[in-house]
Amino acid sequence: MNTKTEADLSLIRKQMFKDISLHSQRADGREIDSRVLFAMNRTPRHEFIEHSAKSVECLPIDYADRARPIGFGQTISQPFIVAYMSDKLDIKESHRVLEIGTGSGYQAAVLSQLCSKVFTVERIEPLLRNTLPRLTKYTNVVGKLGDGHDGWQENAPYDRIMVTAMTNSLPLGLVKQLKVTGKMILPLNGHLCLVTKTGPRPTFETKALIGVSFVPLVEGISARLTPINE
Ligand code: SAH
Repeated sequence: MNTKTEADLSLIRKQMFKDISLHSQRADGREIDSRVLFAMNRTPRHEFIEHSAKSVECLPIDYADRARPIGFGQTISQPFIVAYMSDKLDIKESHRVLEIGTGSGYQAAVLSQLCSKVFTVERIEPLLRNTLPRLTKYTNVVGKLGDGHDGWQENAPYDRIMVTAMTNSLPLGLVKQLKVTGKMILPLNGHLCLVTKTGPRPTFETKALIGVSFVPLVEGISARLTPINE
């Protein structure tokens, strides 16, 4: 990227943070945690949106506060939602985080800068195949092909779980893979829901947050069953 483009990008990013701040004030009356904003500032969102990586004209759209297509009928969430979900999970540096719905890898890249290890599961094999090379520089991220309803049992329990596709019923299998006191955030019946695990049976509390729209959490795997980068 030339110097002019770098300067454009810096302005475009500033606008993204203004949008996130406005949206957060409206939703919650508060600002997003600075660690989350710092991680997002260091993550080149446009590089996760394949077709636009080469076109300077697309940059303002890639950083605008809206979801963008990433192929296979899927979308990368709008920046505010990435910030809000990461913020609500209250992620510590020592945490091991499971993400369901790798998609473009952008959310995984942001999470990787907030915690010690990210495990991410995607059900569409060719999408994961495109995404994993993009994630190699985030050395604490591992991804695999799978149905996120099953979580990633081998590495459980997790301190935090983030689901980035909409479901109509709380996936209890995922709550089981959380540590007691652990938290999970997921889009559930049109709202973000924050789940806190309170006991091993498992027992848990839920809190409904803002209304959201997401692509659906779909049962099963879309193609062959081979894990890709384990
Ligand atoms: N976190 C992504 C957002 C991706 S959109 C990003 O930052 O780009 C949601 C993703 O969830 C899609 O890629 C979709 O294929 C995936 N998905 C849907 N159902 C799933 C399931 N059961 N298991 C794993 N991934 C699933």
